[in-house]
Amino acid sequence: MTKEDEIELFWLPIMLSYIAGDTVLPPMLGLEHAPYEALTAKTRVLRQTLNKQHQHALRQLRQQLRNMRHKEYQELMALLLEHANPDANLVEPAAAVIACGCLGNRHLWKDLGLPERPRLSRMFAWYFPQLFRANDRNMRWKRFLYKQLCEQGGDYICRAPSCDECSTYSECFGAEEH
Ligand code: SF4
Repeated sequence: MTKEDEIELFWLPIMLSYIAGDTVLPPMLGLEHAPYEALTAKTRVLRQTLNKQHQHALRQLRQQLRNMRHKEYQELMALLLEHANPDANLVEPAAAVIACGCLGNRHLWKDLGLPERPRLSRMFAWYFPQLFRANDRNMRWKRFLYKQLCEQGGDYICRAPSCDECSTYSECFGAEEH
């Protein structure tokens, strides 16, 4: 997939949702300056509109919330980058927005501003193919990532030794269309 394909398929919906205020992403989509510039370089008009959004009070609040959960954010980033597709062009920005999106309260695809869950699955398949294959029981993506952190010794969501005997099974495996 070319960088242009990645932008059209994944990043345009995210950027448009950011402009519309329908993501949990902090200023600059949660990206450092250089990757933000690289991502938006070919979408100059859109970048001007994006840039007007960064100072919005809600996005500043999102930044504060992200900072408060910095350790969790870093663990999610590390997990994602450990499984990065070396052939993908925008894999580090993808890890950053997904890690930020995990800090929201809605389904991950919604909090990123993607149009539907399958688009998020395609993001995982392209940017993090090992994780995509590992989610062979079609868990909700956010819960899947936190489960990986639990298995690495984190203490985020799992209160049972296995999913089959867990009292919150439906929160991890239920449908997430809405
Ligand atoms: S079903 Fe329970 S054990 Fe399995 S990932 Fe979810 S919280 Fe963890």
